Amino acid sequence: MQDQKIAIIGAGLSGLVAAINLENAGFQPEIFEATDRAGGRVKTDYREGYTFDHGFQVLLTEYPATQKYLNYDLLELEKFYPGAVIYNQGKQDKIGDPLRQLSLLFPTLTSKIGSFADKLKILKLNTELKKKSFDDIFLAEEKTTLRYLQDYGFSSDIIHNFFKPFFTGIFLEHELKTSSRKFEFVYKMFGKGSAAIPKKGIQAIPNQLMAQLKQTKIHFNTPVESIQDQQVIFKNGGVEQFDFVIIATEASHLISNLNNQHTLWKSVDNYYLSVKQRVFEEPMIGLIADDEALVNNFYYVSKPKAEEHLLSVSIVKPHELSQEELKDKITEDLKTYVGIDPLEFKRFYHIEKALPIMQTVTYMLPKSETQLKDQIFLAGDQLANGSINAAMLNGESAAQAVISKIKDGFINLG
Ligand SMILES: Cc1cc2nc3c(=O)[nH]c(=O)nc-3n(C[C@H](O)[C@H](O)[C@H](O)COP(=O)(O)OP(=O)(O)OC[C@H]3O[C@@H](n4cnc5c(N)ncnc54)[C@H](O)[C@@H]3O)c2cc1C
Repeated sequence: MQDQKIAIIGAGLSGLVAAINLENAGFQPEIFEATDRAGGRVKTDYREGYTFDHGFQVLLTEYPATQKYLNYDLLELEKFYPGAVIYNQGKQDKIGDPLRQLSLLFPTLTSKIGSFADKLKILKLNTELKKKSFDDIFLAEEKTTLRYLQDYGFSSDIIHNFFKPFFTGIFLEHELKTSSRKFEFVYKMFGKGSAAIPKKGIQAIPNQLMAQLKQTKIHFNTPVESIQDQQVIFKNGGVEQFDFVIIATEASHLISNLNNQHTLWKSVDNYYLSVKQRVFEEPMIGLIADDEALVNNFYYVSKPKAEEHLLSVSIVKPHELSQEELKDKITEDLKTYVGIDPLEFKRFYHIEKALPIMQTVTYMLPKSETQLKDQIFLAGDQLANGSINAAMLNGESAAQAVISKIKDGFINLG
């Protein structure tokens, strides 16, 4: 057993993975978490027999970090088909990867979205990205995703009617301004694996990480006010001394000289509502491509045979509607573009800080770059790219840096 005192601030995925790494090296870290549960942005409420994730998010099964830290079988992953059902000007089109889901071959080939040349380019890009390493992707020159798609030769039709609605839901911005590195990474992940949600909701992910912790003490409802050298100062006035501190959340509000380095965030609204109609049977994501629509994407949370279906609807475009006005607009969008009549609005989440806005994105933070001060280390997705994968890898990186500092006296690069 190692006797150094190590504090981790934040029980999101990054903090939990940091703790797993420290435990595996014989330490007994303590996590201080502001809220009453672990998982941070990965959260589910269980009410009236329904599973309500806080915002639509998926695990991409090809993420190296989730493959390393999670047991997919125990998560009972429910996978989406590789594609989407797109609504545009009153028409429904299915488009996807027929090489992995044969039933998508005919609808994809006959879909009116994009030219035949576009469809061939989608397959070509797939093949090219499968061969690219993460270094190839994350060391490449960055441009906006929109510019990247245009430079690749995709038609404005397929950009507007497929890439834009699809990636709006992933990037949480509707102009495709996000870095081409992130686009290539996500496209590569989609091309090889599946998008999936655990049967018990997305919160099953942090729950599984937490279950791996045997020597870590988690203090819930314990917000940290600031960190001064090795002192952790709590909002309740308490102060505790640690040998090392890993800040697994945005650090600017905790460290005085980082005050001017605030992360900017992208927001999303997520409404759950019950509906009678099931407009497609397959486990797919529905997208509304019409410019006038506010709803970006929707999916059926419940299984096709249920009498009443629970629909999750995401709104990404900025708006100033009240909750009531938003309900009206969602009702109008679903009726007009998709042909669904909402029955009852059940739950609403506005997630103000959903994904960090990044000037430049990287795959992960190398060990040596996690160190802020002698005894203070940084983790969290906002230091590389907003994703489950980056959150976990940065937690691992910070913990490994601390371990190597203790064992070797310096941060070795291995
Ligand atoms: C709506 C939505 C959709 C998303 N979609 C996807 C997706 O499809 N695929 C994907 O890969 N990723 C997605 N993400 C991103 C993914 O959820 C995040 O990258 C990941 O959860 C970040 O984990 P983290 O540990 O770095 O940060 P966080 O989850 O933010 O954890 C930080 C923790 O620190 C705690 N904390 C903060 N300040 C203090 C303090 N002062 N004292 C104590 N504790 C503190 C917080 O309460 C929180 O628990 C999505 C996120 C959202 C919100």
